[in-house]
Amino acid sequence: MDIAKRINDLKAELPEQVTLVAVSKFHPAESIWAAYEAGQRVFGESRAQELLPKQKTLPDDIEWHFIGTLQRNKVKDIAPFISLIQSVDSYRLLEEINKEAAKHDRVIRVLLEIHVAQEDSKHGLTQNECLEMLAMTEWQSLKHIRICGLMGMATYTEDEALITTEYKQLKSLFDAVKDTYFRTNDCFSILSMGMSHDYQIAVREGSTMIRIGTDIFGEREY
Ligand SMILES: *Cc1c(COP(=O)(O)O)cnc(C)c1O
Repeated sequence: MDIAKRINDLKAELPEQVTLVAVSKFHPAESIWAAYEAGQRVFGESRAQELLPKQKTLPDDIEWHFIGTLQRNKVKDIAPFISLIQSVDSYRLLEEINKEAAKHDRVIRVLLEIHVAQEDSKHGLTQNECLEMLAMTEWQSLKHIRICGLMGMATYTEDEALITTEYKQLKSLFDAVKDTYFRTNDCFSILSMGMSHDYQIAVREGSTMIRIGTDIFGEREY
């Protein structure tokens, strides 16, 4: 895999308003360096125990995004430096992030992860759970988090019509939430959808952030 070439090709292809997150989970620091040297600064990781040593040894101007299942007892480890937590799927997690962010005098940006795929294995809030949580307004008193948008994954399938439908659902939820709760809030602007196999569809459907692993770094070895 020519990592630098993939980064450059993707950047040339993407519309200006779409942020590229290079998903480096299960890939070594050398691969991250190759992307870094090509100018990439935003990286996504899905496990705290893998992210921590990478964060310690790699350059400070990297923006680390957390994109995996986050256990509440791991929040304290990433709270000092994490730039965006994309995978918030409960109010209790939001409270924990708020508490740990306060200890570091930080405001941590988060996305709410929404379940739109048909697979049961995918995490996230259902659309109703998301709307119910926001309707409960308690989150508005959490001063050390900022909800900046939504994240979601489509079903892993060749069926482009199904992927399109799911991303359309996510986009309309995003628009509804923005309109109801964040109309005057410029921060709520991130719609994170699209991975290696479906990012072109996601961008067409209004994504502002794509998360690409395999298509930059090659297959992961678990
Ligand atoms: C692993 C992962 C990705 C990247 O997947 P690729 O298919 O390798 O591009 C994107 N988003 C999430 C939430 C992931 O866990």
